[in-house]
Amino acid sequence: MLLGILKETAPGETRVALLPENLKTLIAQGISVTVESGAGVSAGASDAAYREAGASVTVDRGFILANADLLPLVTAPDAADQARLKLHAVVLGFLKPLEAPQALAAAIARPVTLFSMELVPRISRAQSMDALSSMATVAGYKAVIAAADRLPRLFPMLITAAGTIPPARVFVIGAGVAGLQAIATARRLGAVVEAFDVRAAAGEQVRSLGAKFLDVDLGGIATEGGGGYAAELTEEALDRGRDLITRTAAHSDVIVTTAQVPGRPAPRLIRRAAVEAMRPGSVLVDLAAPAGGNCELTQPGVTQTIAGVTLLAPLNLPAEVPVDASHLYARNILNFLALIVKKGELTLDLADEVLAGACVAHEGSPVNPRVAKMLEAVSAPTG
Ligand code: NAD
Repeated sequence: MLLGILKETAPGETRVALLPENLKTLIAQGISVTVESGAGVSAGASDAAYREAGASVTVDRGFILANADLLPLVTAPDAADQARLKLHAVVLGFLKPLEAPQALAAAIARPVTLFSMELVPRISRAQSMDALSSMATVAGYKAVIAAADRLPRLFPMLITAAGTIPPARVFVIGAGVAGLQAIATARRLGAVVEAFDVRAAAGEQVRSLGAKFLDVDLGGIATEGGGGYAAELTEEALDRGRDLITRTAAHSDVIVTTAQVPGRPAPRLIRRAAVEAMRPGSVLVDLAAPAGGNCELTQPGVTQTIAGVTLLAPLNLPAEVPVDASHLYARNILNFLALIVKKGELTLDLADEVLAGACVAHEGSPVNPRVAKMLEAVSAPTG
């Protein structure tokens, strides 16, 4: 069996799906590994390091696509690459099946198996494969570093002979995986941190990191959906959150916003008035930008200055930390591979809860019902 490691082609992507250090257990099972030259270079892994780990290296991307039985990736291959996949190959990565199912249409139509790391169920057994959490952790950290870099102030309180500098005030909206890491990072840098989340359960976690949890009366509605995620709120409840955010923005130097509701566009929580209420020089990092953004002024991927406030809307912060992001992601991939490869052979038990949840398509048909429905809607004749 051949496992292929490709150089990622998405603009700005620097991560790699597996590092040389991950190959030992695969090669010990008799699996051959071929790496596209340069695949790991941004993540600190040279071609020579892959060779030393027992892989072969080629510049021939087409060879890997045509011959790999297993193709772990960071992001989805483009349509041309999809059309070249080996029959019955297994492809896994952040394939964005719900965001952009039509971009996967060529692969879905082929007799291959596609697993999406976004769809790995977030159950205890699959925690070690939870790449969304790994990348959210990296993004939460990097968002605060990016904000600290832009802010024309210091984060920690300084008491010096030349006077006292007050600590920066950071407001984190959405205290899930990314938000909690943003809080921890801002605290380590010495900022005073406040946080808001609609899930009451987040309060304890926020306080345990030394930040203040801002409670708001949402009218007693259910704010938690399944699996520890937030539920979609009513417009009235959202408005109460928006009011709190506008009030808190006025005394915040930095806002890091991460609020998401699975499968929905990001909730619009930050009004223009909240941005305008911030002091000039303040920084807002909208980590929900890939899902449209939490701020009504956000333009995903674009940095703006509005009333003197810098608004960052990064689409791929983990790619700015490629070594450690790849390290974490590759461990998630390796743990997933352990579910589908036993003693060097592919064993696809699609009745397994984790595999069933993560499977987008198998042997030419969509398996995920939401993907199937979306593709049907796209291909249905109109009028
Ligand atoms: P997420 O990215 O979907 O959302 C980020 C945060 O935004 C969440 O904390 C959510 O409550 C919050 N949010 C949503 N709407 C909001 C609003 N209107 N106002 C303010 N905040 C809002 O979630 P996530 O960070 O991936 O995970 C959230 C939770 O899911 C975790 O804290 C955990 O409890 C659970 N989880 C479980 C597992 C597991 O068991 N393997 C893994 C990851 C997460």
